[in-house]
Amino acid sequence: MKVGDEYVLNGHKCFITSGGLAGMYTVFATMDRSLGAKGITCFLVERERAGVSVGKDEDKMGLRLSNTADVIFDDVHIPVANRIGEEGEGFKIAMKSLDRSRGVNSYGCLGIAERAIEEAVAYAKQRVTFGRPIIKNQGLQWMLADMQIQCTAARALLYRCAEMIDKTGRYDTQLGSITKTFVSDMCMKVTTDAVQIFGGYGYSREYPIEKLMRDAKIFQIFEGTNQIQRMVIGSQLQR
Ligand SMILES: Cc1cc2nc3c(=O)[nH]c(=O)nc-3n(C[C@H](O)[C@H](O)[C@H](O)COP(=O)(O)OP(=O)(O)OC[C@H]3O[C@@H](n4cnc5c(N)ncnc54)[C@H](O)[C@@H]3O)c2cc1C
Repeated sequence: MKVGDEYVLNGHKCFITSGGLAGMYTVFATMDRSLGAKGITCFLVERERAGVSVGKDEDKMGLRLSNTADVIFDDVHIPVANRIGEEGEGFKIAMKSLDRSRGVNSYGCLGIAERAIEEAVAYAKQRVTFGRPIIKNQGLQWMLADMQIQCTAARALLYRCAEMIDKTGRYDTQLGSITKTFVSDMCMKVTTDAVQIFGGYGYSREYPIEKLMRDAKIFQIFEGTNQIQRMVIGSQLQR
């Protein structure tokens, strides 16, 4: 709501990464819901501003070292100077930000998969059953080979993304969504297979592998789920 030369913000947003730690929030809010995406405006809101508070921390299955919290706005007065862009430009700004982050943020996800492969190979070399290390079994080697193939392909896709940004300065919507989806789906499969290679110990907290699998899952969910990424890619193909 706009009152004079100030905006008054009410509402709350769950699942904010570092929501309990941040000193400043980027908030997308609407003054008229009937306008849909065209009604959204972007604001910078300082943590210390009256009416801003932080709700509960999420108790998550993975990414447990990252704070995720609710942020609550109760009659928060925001000066026009805190508006980013023009009124109604918020959705465009949000989509542009996601174009920038989706591809390159997948580096962390690639790192999880690479660590899972390293751990799985090391374990498979030292775990002996029926008189030989389990890595000597072709069935297991093929699993590891598939993990390595997928991970190497994901790395190449990420490099392609980074190369395009370096060369053109452009963040391509479709390539960002393709990269985010491919890398996170790969990471989920690779970490799940790594747990399998560890056998019973894969399911135990004694080894780090179950943590990698729990951490991998969120990359298929945040910044737009992988179903939403497929919608983005599909709608681009229709154009
Ligand atoms: C750890 C964590 C950190 C986060 N950090 C942030 C943050 O910093 N800032 C922020 O704004 N948000 C953040 N989020 C929110 C996150 O981006 C959303 O949870 C995510 O985009 C999914 O939205 P949702 O939870 O509303 O799921 P829903 O929209 O309720 O989706 C539920 C399921 O339905 C599917 N679905 C929904 N619509 C469709 C459709 N049209 N077609 C096909 N399938 C569909 C989804 O893919 C999903 O599988 C975070 C979430 C988590 C868990």
